[in-house]
Amino acid sequence: MAFDFDLFVIGGGSGGVRAARLAAQSGARVGLAEEHRYGGTCVIRGCVPKKLLVYASAFLAAFEDAPGYGWTVGDRSFDWARLVAAKDREIARLEAIYRRNLKAAGVVLHDARAWIADPHTIRTGDGGRFSARHILVATGGTPFVPEIPGARHAITSNETFDLAEFPRRIAVVGGGYIACEFAGIMNGLGAQVIQLYRGDRILRGFDDDIRDVVAAGMSGRGVDVRVGTDVTSIERAGEGYEVRDSHGERHVVDQVLYATGRKPNSGGIGLAEAGVALGARGEISVDGFSQTSVPSVFAVGDVTDRVNLTPVAIREGAAFVETVFGGNPTKPDHLAVPTAVFTQPEVGTVGMSEAEARASEEQHGGVEIYRSRFRPMYNSLSGRDEDMLVKLVVAKRNRKVLGCHVVGQAAAETIQLAGVAVKMGATKEDFDRTVAVHPTAAEELVTLRVPVADAE
Ligand code: FAD
Repeated sequence: MAFDFDLFVIGGGSGGVRAARLAAQSGARVGLAEEHRYGGTCVIRGCVPKKLLVYASAFLAAFEDAPGYGWTVGDRSFDWARLVAAKDREIARLEAIYRRNLKAAGVVLHDARAWIADPHTIRTGDGGRFSARHILVATGGTPFVPEIPGARHAITSNETFDLAEFPRRIAVVGGGYIACEFAGIMNGLGAQVIQLYRGDRILRGFDDDIRDVVAAGMSGRGVDVRVGTDVTSIERAGEGYEVRDSHGERHVVDQVLYATGRKPNSGGIGLAEAGVALGARGEISVDGFSQTSVPSVFAVGDVTDRVNLTPVAIREGAAFVETVFGGNPTKPDHLAVPTAVFTQPEVGTVGMSEAEARASEEQHGGVEIYRSRFRPMYNSLSGRDEDMLVKLVVAKRNRKVLGCHVVGQAAAETIQLAGVAVKMGATKEDFDRTVAVHPTAAEELVTLRVPVADAE
């Protein structure tokens, strides 16, 4: 049977764009539908605009630290509208590049919503109906707001990027990385921030030392972090909102930002009707090659809820093309994915947390922990009372570094390179025989001599 397309991709975000371009470059006839803007979450309302706001918000700490280094900082003011406009220009520029690159590769673009009509048929909101040998679902995820009274008053990360007015007081609800990053952004830009999280420690899933050092740093910088605290209702209060929490306290704020998790974008696109199996959270179930329960349908990225990060979605998209169009079955590798959290202070992490390694201790012949929590040189003159953390989780059996964790200045940049070493299977002794770069904070990674006692 002749198909209109060899591949039809639903969703022009990180995973979909990469797969569409690579498949088209390999000679396949490729169609792609995007219902919003090219680049997807990462470019339009995720990593990129967030990092721009992180940069903007980091000036506060620089201003605060400057006097210790001899500077007198004059009057300062911040213009949210100017920042948003600059951010929007940059995102429009990036989106245009995405669109241009797809077209240059020969991908046929449909600026419309798409859904699956049957395992080889796609329909689009602009009236299109196409047959495709393969369909790739790369529809990403969307913020999830729990049902509480007044939930409709809450905004999510999506809206925060484009607020018409900067909120002087904001409640950030949640304890995951997006909540913590936004708490830091808003605090750095001058808002009064209260962060409400029902768990007992922020950044669940990260190494416990990371969680402690970040929480202390965030509090030290002025975020009012309240753990063990849930929101029970949100009501309008004049121009703002009154948030009630599970301890009966009321907080009056200008905005309530919910960052309590994301859910896969798998509804209303014909998946169940076509026989595509979904998991309990609505994620598309896939095998190691990103193939769904329907052989002609594949899925990559956040909609599969594996490791929800842009570079991972890109790798999954590339592995899919290699498998289906390159004749070389390739599984995306989800092990030891380095990642950063752009909290203030910043986190870089790769591999296992101490708790994960201890849970599989037998396999490693026991686990050794090397840790240094210290005042970095930068803080000596600035007077900032904030610690840095470097930590290595080491397998006793073969001395391999199972996990490497950094909190503090340039942690994200540091972990990209430490990630290479961990991925290569570096041992603790490989770290030790690497000469320190002095004076840096990262040199602590190669000068950790004594493991912490087991009981610590
Ligand atoms: P997406 O990028 O979400 O793309 C999906 C696309 O599909 C969207 O453009 C959507 O409009 C489109 N679409 C959906 N349904 C349809 C349909 N039926 N028809 C047509 N089009 C459709 N990751 C990092 O690695 N580092 C970070 O620092 C980072 N920061 C983040 C910050 C925030 C605030 C958020 C929300 C996410 C962040 N992420 C970060 C995660 C990252 O953005 C995602 O993992 C990544 O974008 C997933 O790519 P994807 O291709 O699966 O989906």
